[in-house]
Amino acid sequence: MTVGHFIAGQWWPGRDDALSENPARPAEEIVRHALATDAEVDAAVEAADAALPAWIRTPAPARAAILRRAGERVAARAEELARLLTREEGKPLAEARGEVHRAALIFHYHAAQAWRATGEVYASSNPDEEIRTVRVPVGVVAAITPWNFPIAIPAWKIAPALVHGNTIVWKPASPTPAMAVELARELEAAGLPAGVLNLVLGSGRAGARLVSHKRVDAITFTGSGAVGRGIWNEATPRGVRVQLELGGHNAAIVYPDADLDRAVDQIVIGAMGATGQKCTATRRIVAVGGVHDALVERLTERVAALRVGDALDESVDVGPLVSAAARDEVADEVARAARDGVDIAAGGDVVELDGGYYLRPTLLTDVTPDMRIAQEEVFGPVTSVIPADDDDEAIAIANATRFGLSAAVFTRDERRIRRALLEIDAGIIHVNNATTGSEPHVPFGGMRESSSQGPHEQGETARDFFTELKTAYLVPGDAAP
Ligand code: NAP
Ligand code: MG
Repeated sequence: MTVGHFIAGQWWPGRDDALSENPARPAEEIVRHALATDAEVDAAVEAADAALPAWIRTPAPARAAILRRAGERVAARAEELARLLTREEGKPLAEARGEVHRAALIFHYHAAQAWRATGEVYASSNPDEEIRTVRVPVGVVAAITPWNFPIAIPAWKIAPALVHGNTIVWKPASPTPAMAVELARELEAAGLPAGVLNLVLGSGRAGARLVSHKRVDAITFTGSGAVGRGIWNEATPRGVRVQLELGGHNAAIVYPDADLDRAVDQIVIGAMGATGQKCTATRRIVAVGGVHDALVERLTERVAALRVGDALDESVDVGPLVSAAARDEVADEVARAARDGVDIAAGGDVVELDGGYYLRPTLLTDVTPDMRIAQEEVFGPVTSVIPADDDDEAIAIANATRFGLSAAVFTRDERRIRRALLEIDAGIIHVNNATTGSEPHVPFGGMRESSSQGPHEQGETARDFFTELKTAYLVPGDAAP
């Protein structure tokens, strides 16, 4: 199948510029697709601009009704979409199902935001005057998304942008065009007017064109730090509002009083879920004091027992990485860590199976906080154990990277929990839970270099990015003569 862009309510003819493949069986093509030219990106922005006035005038509850229908349509096709997601991106089918259902829920959650109060009323110090706050859409929004959550992340950008009255140009990641086309089709079928959502398929070059377009009012980006910083530097000097959700190097601290069974279960989920290709994946395990040896022993056994294979097979725990380049990069980082002196307690080797992009789930021990593997995000099924002598050192290690996305602590001690909430520099903290996992009705985002420092995505804070807040001072006119 060949797919093209969706611009101004029209599906453009597909082109054979590039293709997506099944990372478990690269010989299997998913779709052939166009790579947007500059003129096509410009056409998409012009369409979003042209559609803006009518969309702003559409009552928010009517916008919300379209989102609800889109959510229902996605949920009705959940199994089919989950299988496509797994074939194109490579995460285990159970996780793909979870992601598709999550996307549907995100449309419902943001649809409900249409019922919130849109302003406040204040007293004025002047007689007869009233002061109100008023929220208006930001305007044309560029959404640039990664491949690792190819439907949930787009949903949590698109749904709040639309319900609050913005129009969108969406540039999805090039490994997952088929999922993007399916989501855009469901929004079209749900009744979205032409030009309100425009999809341009393309490479980073198309993303760069979009970012540099003078008619874009706001950019919401999820992806790597390098690309995110480039977008920030390009767009913020022009006064463009920019939201970045970037990488992490998330720590799980295991204290000596922890329920070790639960800690091991949750760490394996957090480190190896979705093949470790989550921004919130557990990258470092900080073992405090005497818990170290038992923890390493049990983690080694569990990680070594994980079943690797085609993610459509329900008995598989860990699927392929998204591409050969991603697999090779992660394997190189493991080899480099071994040269730095770490011990490979489990995994570390490439798995040959149907030409798929597999790396065996990998547990590294004898890692020190300053090593490259403990500082740079390695986006795959690799996690490191770092010993800490005491509670102070554990918190210091958890905070010893430039990131601050998520963290976990495993303890039964209320004082340790309270200390973690106050002192770990992470936007998301899990207690006796994996570092991964989030719900759509609460804010999601990080500290330090993991995010831009504006309003977080998801939850009620999502609205703050997609709206401008105005203050109005009103003196009613005299009655007409
Ligand atoms: P990426 O390479 O930064 O790509 C993200 C998006 O930006 C893709 O659509 C990409 O297009 C596009 N892009 C590339 N170069 C661009 C440029 N110069 N200008 C504008 N857009 C450009 O990231 P990725 O490899 O897809 O995703 C993995 C990263 O995302 C990891 O670092 C992960 O931690 C992070 N992530 C963060 C979160 C979070 O919420 N904090 C969630 C998920 C993932 P192409 O695909 O065509 O290159
Ligand atoms: Mg990339």
